[in-house]
Amino acid sequence: MIYLDCAATTPLDPRVWTAMQPYFQEQFGNPSSALHSLGWQAEKALSQARQTCKNALSAQDYDLFFTSGATESNNWALRGLVEQCRLQHPQDPIHILSSPIEHAAVGETLRHLQKLHGEFLQIEFVPCQSNGQIQVEDVEKRIRSNTRLLSFMWVNNELGTINPISELTELAKQNQIYLHTDATQAPGKVTVNLQQTPVDLLALSAHKIYGPKGTGALLIRKRNPRVSITSLLVGGGQELGQRAGTVNVAGAVGLAKALELVQELKQEDTLHAQSLRAEFLMGLAKSGLEFKLNGSPEGVASIINLQLLNVTAHKSFSGLAYSQGSACHSHEIGGSPVLKAIGLANSDAERSFRFSWGRQTVAADIAKAVEILSAQIQKT
Ligand code: PMP
Repeated sequence: MIYLDCAATTPLDPRVWTAMQPYFQEQFGNPSSALHSLGWQAEKALSQARQTCKNALSAQDYDLFFTSGATESNNWALRGLVEQCRLQHPQDPIHILSSPIEHAAVGETLRHLQKLHGEFLQIEFVPCQSNGQIQVEDVEKRIRSNTRLLSFMWVNNELGTINPISELTELAKQNQIYLHTDATQAPGKVTVNLQQTPVDLLALSAHKIYGPKGTGALLIRKRNPRVSITSLLVGGGQELGQRAGTVNVAGAVGLAKALELVQELKQEDTLHAQSLRAEFLMGLAKSGLEFKLNGSPEGVASIINLQLLNVTAHKSFSGLAYSQGSACHSHEIGGSPVLKAIGLANSDAERSFRFSWGRQTVAADIAKAVEILSAQIQKT
């Protein structure tokens, strides 16, 4: 099986595994145990992991909360903010701007909130351009006096397109609105430096950056301005009382190591991805497979979404791991909301495929993938 589905998940980097291992067995303590050394060790590991993540992101102005992944982080950011606004001003309707190309973790949360809050919540999805990007002007002209939040993903998981998050952050600041970004696919692919791009809320996941599944983080700005959202889980008071429950120490250590590595290796990983992308496209062309790129050619180098024009009906390929739509929606092919949002007809969406590679992918994998595609597609 050739694995070209790194946007769905990545294998654990061996260095991440090494960093995590002690916290499963020898150092299994609960970081909240304040009366013995096993607890102290766990607490130290946790606070070091938090600091490492913050350093990697230049996030000294933020509180960083460990979560179970980006779905939880996005849910918490959006629900927590809406709940906070509703508690403070129960009679004032809130307006939120987002986009139709968000991951379901954002899109479905917003739709759920809409059902809960009815007329007190106005959600508007700003259309994207046919290249899959959101334009700042399109957002700006929709801002109202009661707009409280902009929620736009940094890098799109299906197309690899990059949104202008720095400009959107600037726009949000000028209008005293908060900006939340789902940055799940961003680290290592674009520069994520929160001093340079001072967003208000940011969601992360470890398993997209060679870390463990079931671990992520939500960063919440704590000064200039302080962003206040309601807590996600109440209970034992962990994570500043905002997300109670014994923290997954090994997971936090894994996220920290993965984030540190992905930032350190950004240039190397990008060059590698660029060379694999060039080989993939050249390979397809050489083997007579015609294709059309979906999204922007300036997207990230490790994700490609293309229509394979020789494919006439819905087709699956054996021996190759890839996606149609996002992995979370791979059962509803023609129905990808992202492909619809960029204006693709169902027939074009059905012959669109996402291939994504990573640090562990080698040139021979790409050559083999092209061979598999070429052998399984009838050339017309
Ligand atoms: N947002 C984006 C952009 C994603 O690609 C994903 C994973 N497919 C998620 C959110 C959800 O992340 P997790 O699996 O950590 O819940």
